[in-house]
Amino acid sequence: MEYDVIVVGGGNAALCAALSAAEHGARVALLERAPEAERGGNSAFAGGTFRAVYSGVEDVRKWVPDLSDSEIADTDFGSYSAEQFFDDMARVTRYRTDPDLCEALVRNSGDTVNWIRAQGLRFIPAFSFYSVKTGNKRKFRGGVVVEIVGGGKGLVNGLFDAAQRRKIDIFYDAHVQQLLYVDKRIRGVRADIADQIIDLKSNAVVLACGGFEANIEWRTRYLGPGWDLAKVRGSRFNTGDGIRMALDVGAQPYGHWSGCHSTEWDLNAPDFGDHTLVEKMHKHCYEFGVVINNDGRRFVDEGADFRTYTYAKYGREILAQPGQAAWQIFDSKVLHLLRRDEYYNKRATRVRADTLEELLARMKGLDAGQALKTLREYNAAVLKDVPFNPNVRDGRGTQGLALPKSNWANTLEDGPFEAYAVTCGITFTFGGVKITPDAEVVDFRNRPIRGLFAAGEMAAGIFYFNYPGSSGLTSGAVFGRIAGRSAAVYAGSAA
Ligand SMILES: Cc1cc2nc3c(=O)[nH]c(=O)nc-3n(C[C@H](O)[C@H](O)[C@H](O)COP(=O)(O)OP(=O)(O)OC[C@H]3O[C@@H](n4cnc5c(N)ncnc54)[C@H](O)[C@@H]3O)c2cc1C
Repeated sequence: MEYDVIVVGGGNAALCAALSAAEHGARVALLERAPEAERGGNSAFAGGTFRAVYSGVEDVRKWVPDLSDSEIADTDFGSYSAEQFFDDMARVTRYRTDPDLCEALVRNSGDTVNWIRAQGLRFIPAFSFYSVKTGNKRKFRGGVVVEIVGGGKGLVNGLFDAAQRRKIDIFYDAHVQQLLYVDKRIRGVRADIADQIIDLKSNAVVLACGGFEANIEWRTRYLGPGWDLAKVRGSRFNTGDGIRMALDVGAQPYGHWSGCHSTEWDLNAPDFGDHTLVEKMHKHCYEFGVVINNDGRRFVDEGADFRTYTYAKYGREILAQPGQAAWQIFDSKVLHLLRRDEYYNKRATRVRADTLEELLARMKGLDAGQALKTLREYNAAVLKDVPFNPNVRDGRGTQGLALPKSNWANTLEDGPFEAYAVTCGITFTFGGVKITPDAEVVDFRNRPIRGLFAAGEMAAGIFYFNYPGSSGLTSGAVFGRIAGRSAAVYAGSAA
């Protein structure tokens, strides 16, 4: 079997690469390691929100043409400039993001949302993830305004449908194990397809097969001690194969190999992502409460920023706590702000009581005496004169605590109280291989490896330490699209 372009992976980045290569005239095969029922990698577990530049409601209307008049009247959609996206990327990555890759991500973000729409997929406003209603008006916070209909599953199903329409050959149960590399050029891949080892030939290969988050051994080796104990939020198939195969042919390792995206995740979540549970395991509303460990002490500034700028780094903080666990505590004043899908389901590890003392006594493993002391000190430190406003960084923080809460601080004094037990859920790793803004994989001398392209989680250098929420799908789509185009052009000239 011979192709112009082989794409390795079956998530957002791979599908965008395959569609883009086909759009540019290439004969394309896509090899997905997972069986069909589990296809789509982390992308299929995603909420489906995309971070992209937009200048106001008119741009939102282009992405969501059926936006109703009342939705427009009742919503402040805001705007998100390229400068804001650059600033967010620079700030959260502590100025480490590769400027050329970051520029490609930001500048192509809005147009890539349009391109996904052109593949036949639909977007809706991301009301429940990214806006809060105060009074009669909803206001978007944090620069993300749309999500794909059907979430990550909807995204993956829509892109697979588009791939079929484009006559892309799709192989499931296709575990790619090695790149065929002859005379310093990529010639295809060797794969275990339904238990048969097969060589598939091509002029170009796009690797878009995820990071190493599901590889317990690499996690411990590169992220450090304790990471073997993290729960995997998504796919069990992302074990670093693409990174290893690229390194084997001389690719340059790049990015934050000891860093990853990890979040507060239900304590009793399964070891790997489960499609029937995924929404229920999120616990992202900590910004409205207080987080303590089992020693009864706070250890993060819950209100340092909107959660979209903190949630991806707080999993690591929880992993470092005794028992790799913590508690999010809320009182009745803020319970209405907790996302229903995440907090109010049978699988949530929740304790509820009318008084704080009773609540703490029911929280298994907790030093309740120290916890009560911590929460009383916290209550006394809240700046009660500053009005609470969940739509802005309201500055209603604490005063005099060694570890402040900077925004959205409310006293914990009005029952009923609720506490949720959380642990660390890893989403994806930040280390991988170096690519150019044209998605070519480069060697140690920064020279493209002929015929090799990469996109998605394994294309590194974009995220360090942290991540602005909803950039993963945008990054996969932007660089997947670029990789597919570059691979098709290369394959044409290499033929
Ligand atoms: C619970 C959860 C929620 C999320 N929500 C969002 C969100 O709302 N917005 C957002 O922007 N991001 C979100 N993310 C992050 C986002 O999903 C990822 O950043 C993105 O999907 C990664 O895309 P990808 O194509 O690089 O990898 P994946 O989608 O993981 O795809 C990798 C693919 O490679 C395949 N593969 C692996 N090894 C091989 C091999 N050897 N041979 C063949 N195939 C192989 C896998 O089976 C898989 O299909 C979320 C992630 C999770 C887990």
